[in-house]
Amino acid sequence: MKGPGLPLVRALLVVGGALAVLVVALPEGPVRAVLYCAVAVACAAAVFAGVRRHRPVHPGGWLLVGAGVGAWALGDVVYTFLRDVAGVEPFPSVADVAYLAAYPLLAAGFWRFVRARQGGRGRDGLVDSAILVVGFSLLMWVTLVKPSLLDTSVSAAARAVGAAYPIGDVLLLAVLVQLLTSSGARTAAFRLLVTGAGLMLAADAAYQLVSLRGNVFGLDEGVVDVLFLSSYLCTAGAALHPSMRRLTDSPPREGAELTRARLVALTAASLLSPGTLAVQVVLDRDLEVWAVILTSVTLFLLVVVRMSGLLRQVQDQARQLAALARTDALTGLPNRRSGQAELARQLERARREGLPLCVALLDLDRFKTYNDTFGHPAGDRLLVGSAAGWRARLQGRGVLARWGGEEFLLLLPGLPAVAAVEVVDELRAATADGQTFSGGVAQWDGAESDESLVARADEALYAAKAAGRDRVLPAPAPDALSARGH
Ligand code: GH3
Ligand code: MG
Ligand code: MG
Repeated sequence: MKGPGLPLVRALLVVGGALAVLVVALPEGPVRAVLYCAVAVACAAAVFAGVRRHRPVHPGGWLLVGAGVGAWALGDVVYTFLRDVAGVEPFPSVADVAYLAAYPLLAAGFWRFVRARQGGRGRDGLVDSAILVVGFSLLMWVTLVKPSLLDTSVSAAARAVGAAYPIGDVLLLAVLVQLLTSSGARTAAFRLLVTGAGLMLAADAAYQLVSLRGNVFGLDEGVVDVLFLSSYLCTAGAALHPSMRRLTDSPPREGAELTRARLVALTAASLLSPGTLAVQVVLDRDLEVWAVILTSVTLFLLVVVRMSGLLRQVQDQARQLAALARTDALTGLPNRRSGQAELARQLERARREGLPLCVALLDLDRFKTYNDTFGHPAGDRLLVGSAAGWRARLQGRGVLARWGGEEFLLLLPGLPAVAAVEVVDELRAATADGQTFSGGVAQWDGAESDESLVARADEALYAAKAAGRDRVLPAPAPDALSARGH
């Protein structure tokens, strides 16, 4: 990290923090009000200054965040002017237009960061934040929106505007959760930005609680002001930090991992719905039956969507693993394990249907010499080319597997030995690079084990090698073999 960014951010946080403490320590009055507004406006300006200084690759998100903080600061200035200078009731007023405009601006800015950071792979993250937002919405509805709508002590306009704030908070929370769970680097700028947004949400919720219910839970206007000022300072600090340039860098990471923390958050959000009902029952409040039903159903469906996504992922991985376990990495043919399984299947089928089955073993001639002459990589290419050539020539008449080194197993169902030898003979011309192979063919005798069948094919292969290579020989019948003492 270079440049004057770091000390600047530290200085800003120290001076700004001191100012914030001063603001709160001062008694209500014009000095305090002006100081508060000055910090707010300075922080908004600092975001734009950060964009100018660091020139991020995607400035759009930062400019929207700057505009959002600016709108909020403008709301503060207008609110203070109406209350302290013009002497009129500031709520609801044109100040609320500025405040409410801040939500979509901030949300749009965050959304740009989210898109850039996850590079379009965000379905799981989207479902996760939907779960959190739905759970949180119920809480907001019960504690803030509905009481605000039902508050008959104020005008209809005040009720509507009061209800709009928690909705804005939910919007902001939705994108904040997306940003928090996005895959990009967790730089200092990132941490400052999400802390600022989190503080903004906390401040806003505390402000609304205080104005609806008075000083509850130890909250008062002083605490609310500290939260708001800290939020401004963190956001300004984020934009001034040099790492703001890399906020939209997206490292290659797979979708939204289900970490323990995430699982806890999702479970807690899902429990908000029955929890709300339980609290209402215990406190003997009016039950929010329909709100709870609606959120419960939505949460269940979202959880099912998330789980089905996970299940699909696990199934895909299982399929990929199974395919890997069956395939020979070099030639792409079925490997020995797969060849053995296929042999057992074919034997079972031959037994059931009373059809002939032949097994052939193919072994490249003097492959060691080929390796020694042309090198091991060339030997590999010979294996790959020959496997492909033989498979093409087979045209689906049998199943070819790599049995080991330069040895291949071929299963030829439905053919008697003579026809099978002809098929294997045909393959000889398809061997790569003008090389040759020897082959041994054994026909299943209708009773012997798969091991015995392969052993007889091997016996025939050995005979073909001994007879001078570059030929295919049938195995003698099993009784002839045992008569020779095997
Ligand atoms: P023969 O005609 O009697 O079959 O002689 P050969 O040289 O083919 O037989 P041998 O069994 O003596 O040698 C097999 C060689 O195959 C030895 C080994 O280095 C080579 N080999 C086994 N697997 C691979 C592989 O995956 N790639 C390459 N390039 N060589 C392999
Ligand atoms: Mg060989
Ligand atoms: Mg060999």
